[in-house]
Amino acid sequence: MNHGAHDGRVEVISGVMFSGKSEELLRRLRRALIARKRVQVFKSRLDDRYAGASRLSSHDGSGIDARPITSSRDLRRLVNPETDVVGIDEVQFLDDGIVQVVEWLADRRVRVIVAGTDMDFRGRPFGAMGALMARAEVVDKLHAICVRCGEPATRNQRLIGGEPAPPEAPTVHVGGNETYEARCRRCHEVPEPGRHQTELDIEGEAAAWAERARYW
Ligand code: ADP
Ligand code: ZN
Repeated sequence: MNHGAHDGRVEVISGVMFSGKSEELLRRLRRALIARKRVQVFKSRLDDRYAGASRLSSHDGSGIDARPITSSRDLRRLVNPETDVVGIDEVQFLDDGIVQVVEWLADRRVRVIVAGTDMDFRGRPFGAMGALMARAEVVDKLHAICVRCGEPATRNQRLIGGEPAPPEAPTVHVGGNETYEARCRRCHEVPEPGRHQTELDIEGEAAAWAERARYW
């Protein structure tokens, strides 16, 4: 796709955890810097307990500083009018307002590159990722390697105490004792709701999820 030098656009780097989204975002941002573009980098965080700088880093240890944001409003407030390129990592954690802010920036000729995991641990669209992918000019879906069978992995497997997590748990469980694995469709496991007894708090979002699940 041939983009004019001044075209605003939205690029989405999507995929499962460990698929290399941060590495790819970093690669694109580095190239923009080489092209002497004015670049701003943001990273969403789940809570605002830690102020200050965050870092977008790849596994070889290199990285770029990223400004932590907790909402789409933060982003709108913090983008400078002269900025040419905006990068956002972990965009799936931001509120739905991110879709409008990203479109607003692209309409103002900003190249917006967002990276995020497209599915939650149940295999359902995560946050605003689906809406962002639909509106983007360019979408890349990266794969990891399934830790079970070695095929391309597309899904996030949540494990609690080594067991597949039930679907009624919250999508985001801050400070939880869960671990994640990259798995393919065939190896991805989500037990029936309520079949497994867990120590997770299933109130709040989880209750709402269970209510919604009745209509699926
Ligand atoms: P993402 O941002 O998509 O979570 P990262 O860029 O942080 O991905 O990490 C990608 C790196 O993770 C790979 O280059 C690889 O070294 C490592 N990795 C760990 N587990 C896996 C896996 N199951 N499949 C592929 N890469 C993996
Ligand atoms: Zn597999």
